[in-house]
Amino acid sequence: MTNHTVNDTPLSVHIFATSRCNLNCRHCFIEATSFSRNHKDLSSNAILNAVNIIHNISSKVDFEIEGGEIIMHPQFPDIIGGIDEEVFPNITITTNGTNSIDFAQMKLCGHKGSLRLRVSAEGHNEKIHNILRSSKLADAFQFVEQGSKTGVNTVIRTTLHSENIEYISEMISAYAAAGAREIQFLEFQQCGRGKQANNKHLVIDETAFKEAVNEFCSVAIPNDIQRMTLSLSSRRLKSLKSWNNHFFQSATNKMGCKDASLTFNWDGSISICPWEPHETVIADRWPDDLSSFVINKLESGKLFHECDFCSAFKFIRGENAK
Ligand code: SF4
Repeated sequence: MTNHTVNDTPLSVHIFATSRCNLNCRHCFIEATSFSRNHKDLSSNAILNAVNIIHNISSKVDFEIEGGEIIMHPQFPDIIGGIDEEVFPNITITTNGTNSIDFAQMKLCGHKGSLRLRVSAEGHNEKIHNILRSSKLADAFQFVEQGSKTGVNTVIRTTLHSENIEYISEMISAYAAAGAREIQFLEFQQCGRGKQANNKHLVIDETAFKEAVNEFCSVAIPNDIQRMTLSLSSRRLKSLKSWNNHFFQSATNKMGCKDASLTFNWDGSISICPWEPHETVIADRWPDDLSSFVINKLESGKLFHECDFCSAFKFIRGENAK
């Protein structure tokens, strides 16, 4: 059994707050759908309690609060309004950018900075975007633009797959023009709905992967983009190492990321892996003493996790590359 200093342990917390979504994206790894009427939501109190308790446990915690589609959570304003301003810089809220919010009313910034508002977009034009999701790219871009105007730290996240990977430069330019401050690329994974047979061709082959890494590491960073990341799973590490040091040297910054991971699911269970929440359940229901539960799991090293889907390595570029 390994001992870890709990307060120094980087911890990545995912909160899947609601099963509600207005889309049915073909790659959705948590399999949210607009077809079900049997929705489940974590209450705003539960979410805020979890955030406060865990923030008091670890000084290096990142919270990713998402749905389904988080804006459709019936208590979304209470969730945002209840987050302590001290915690804002550690929070990322992820949305598909198709549901409007009142940016002027919503408390998205505090004296220590803004939370990160992350919008999913899957390409530089509607045709490429629609390969994965049926929404309008223009709506997502409008959402980002509104967020940026109100001083929110806006992020665009894209799932790279075999049919959009050749457009990395075009996507970066389009996202910068839409007002994004940060761009995140991650790789399509065959989990959740991504496992379906008609998605098999979306897996990125070795040649395209190599070209994409090269392009990401060499493309000029637009002026307003503060940070760009390309996250790769452990499946790619062998290839990266075999390419001598070329790609490692060309990245402005890079880091290994094998952080501890904790996932709160909308049905009240708690898991380790956000990509495989059903397979990695460590509690069927919320423990009475969440603080002791998390401390115990951290001290025993049980939350350290690596699978074929989680980010094991990130290329990071930009002025905020740390
Ligand atoms: S990927 Fe996001 S927007 Fe698409 S169905 Fe899943 S939760 Fe909804």
